[in-house]
Amino acid sequence: MVRTDNSSLDRILGKCLKGQEITCEEGASLLQARGLDVWIIAQAADELRRRTVGDRVTYVKNRNVNFTNVCTMQCGFCAFSVLPGRGGYTMSVEQVKEEASTAKKQGCTEVCLQGGINPALDYRYYLDICKAVKDVAPDIHIHAFSPMEIKAMADKWGVSVEYCLDALKDAGLGSIPGTAAEILDDGIRRVLCPKKISTGEWVSVVKAAHKKGIPTTATMMYGHIEDETHRARHLDLIRSIQKETGGFTEFIPLSFIHYNTRIYRHPPDGLAVRQGTTGLEDIKVHAVSRLMLAGAIDHIQVSWPKLGPKLAQMCLDAGCDDLGGTLFSEKITSSAGGGWGQSLSETDIRDLILGVGRVPAERDTIYRIVDELEAF
Ligand code: SF4
Repeated sequence: MVRTDNSSLDRILGKCLKGQEITCEEGASLLQARGLDVWIIAQAADELRRRTVGDRVTYVKNRNVNFTNVCTMQCGFCAFSVLPGRGGYTMSVEQVKEEASTAKKQGCTEVCLQGGINPALDYRYYLDICKAVKDVAPDIHIHAFSPMEIKAMADKWGVSVEYCLDALKDAGLGSIPGTAAEILDDGIRRVLCPKKISTGEWVSVVKAAHKKGIPTTATMMYGHIEDETHRARHLDLIRSIQKETGGFTEFIPLSFIHYNTRIYRHPPDGLAVRQGTTGLEDIKVHAVSRLMLAGAIDHIQVSWPKLGPKLAQMCLDAGCDDLGGTLFSEKITSSAGGGWGQSLSETDIRDLILGVGRVPAERDTIYRIVDELEAF
């Protein structure tokens, strides 16, 4: 590997490349790197990616179904939700079924169901939409309901999270998106999303799911009011959960899309809210995610709706090995002003992967290979 004129960087990357775990402080120091050092960090992350998963880059054929945008949580970074009575929408069970039918026709292996915290819905609706998907597409994997939705559902139902998870699993739930994590730091959450579940509650729902054999993804939304130390602590927490449960399938950094959000347009007095991230910063966050999570989480996903296909492709050379999904009907990022559309075709995804000299492979939600181009 290239040596730098920065002895601290050399030492930390040396640890990574020897397979040693780096500390939270060392992760924060990598996240503070600037200029050409970022490319050296990316190179080390790319090497660990190669050793961990080889040259395969995966994607999943999935369809997003955001079944309601009515929500009472008022997270400052969200431009998707609408308060009750203000003209939002809620899909009927029959409409969700039609979406699942469309997903099946499109060749999807996964339907991703997520929505706002809508007080008009109770547990019966959530169970019914899972059953409706399975009715029309029994082989489709249901990836659904953030830890926030699960906790709100259980509380409204008056049952434990564990009971709620059992009921959802019986209705067809296969795995849970690890969204609603944002930054797992209660100081940040009090400003960014004060009504949302706390760090401890997020961790508790995720661990409960893992203990029941329900895998989840893990996410981190970065580039708003947090700093590099918060990001490193978030990665450290995700790493420690994974060591205990082994239930995370992948880690997905999600850059903040600021344009239409309340916290950016009308920040509380004195609060500095960033206009999202820079490209080099995105590359660095994905690379450091690979380095800090090495030995714990094998798959690092880059989100094309957040970064756009071209920058997402560059992150494939900075530690990432998964390009996420086709989505077909993405609404949450596009509502916030993300300009990369609601869908990316399988051909486009494969071209991005081939463009970095790697091997495209369609996977299912839990990383079983469905279809792979021959290695070349
Ligand atoms: S991020 Fe989710 S919980 Fe927060 S306001 Fe938006 S829809 Fe509601």
